[in-house]
Amino acid sequence: MALSEYDVRSLEELFSGWGYPRGNTKKLLRRYYDSAGESIDGVQVARELKERVLGEMGLRSTRVLTRQEASDGTVKLLIGVGESSSTSKRALSLASATVGASVECVLMPSFRSDRAAGCVSSQVGCAMGCDFCASTKTGVERSLTSGEMVEQFLWLRGEAARLGRRLQTIVFMGMGEPLMNYDNVTAAIRRMAGEDLGAIGWRHVTVSTVGIVPGIDRMTEEGLGMYLAVSLHAPDDDTRSAIVPTGKRYRVADILAAVRRYQAATGRIVTIEYTLLEGVNDSDAQARLLAELLDGGRMHVNLIPYNAIGPGVSGREYRRPSQERMDRFLDILRGRGVVAHFRRTRGADIDGACGQLRERVLA
Ligand code: SF4
Repeated sequence: MALSEYDVRSLEELFSGWGYPRGNTKKLLRRYYDSAGESIDGVQVARELKERVLGEMGLRSTRVLTRQEASDGTVKLLIGVGESSSTSKRALSLASATVGASVECVLMPSFRSDRAAGCVSSQVGCAMGCDFCASTKTGVERSLTSGEMVEQFLWLRGEAARLGRRLQTIVFMGMGEPLMNYDNVTAAIRRMAGEDLGAIGWRHVTVSTVGIVPGIDRMTEEGLGMYLAVSLHAPDDDTRSAIVPTGKRYRVADILAAVRRYQAATGRIVTIEYTLLEGVNDSDAQARLLAELLDGGRMHVNLIPYNAIGPGVSGREYRRPSQERMDRFLDILRGRGVVAHFRRTRGADIDGACGQLRERVLA
């Protein structure tokens, strides 16, 4: 297993099993995270131990297959997963000939010139079937390991450093449903956020879910302290289940009840994600109903202008509403006291929507 799969305790156990003292494990991992996963040079540990780490484990198990940079500075990476950095050159060239399993992650420059935000994936593909999403068109291949998610964080940290920025926040909003890979996602966040390793801080991590109620409740029980975003996309169950199949299982009222439990336990403001689709969920009545549902909750609404992906899983094609219609939707929410914004469109001149880059490369 690559170094990215270990936390301090599990690496101490491994080194101890190899007959080395546990003492410098933390320093070695800190150096690894500080170098964006590129090096363990300069750490005072036995040379044979370093050689064994590099030779038997490898620093990474993933590699960058494709890199796109947009004119607004957004960088999108297609990451090949399931390969070892200690793999032979022949195996690597075979792997690059066939793209294999891959996921996307994105670096977005912040308004502040020295900061950036990252978006990572939690699964290869997605089983949730949201009809307006490119990530789900080929279903889910598998969940990512915690190390494969940590490595996306490290690739993005390296990209940010090259742009003279610091990777300050991470959102789990890429491919996959994070709460369907709960254990690995939270293990990865512990390493990204933890002071001894990635040191990004729990308050700078957001997990975005399509509304898996038991997963939200587990986050509430465990009190881990990250932010929560919920992709609602419609205020009523009929509209929602037509575009988000999990809506048949988890009703809007049950999802919002789970959100309120999370808020009560953590005090966190929760973001409600709402992709605007022309003639589907963008009416005045739907805006009013959404405002009513959120009344009294400490929730922010993120309105997402739809990014065209061609036909969805159902074969239906969606369109982005006119700017006038979207402005009206926003005004109704704000007029009823809801804190709401449009999500800034990033990387418009590259494969901007989640799953698009992978879809194009695999096509
Ligand atoms: S929107 Fe999110 S949950 Fe829905 S299919 Fe896409 S990746 Fe999966």
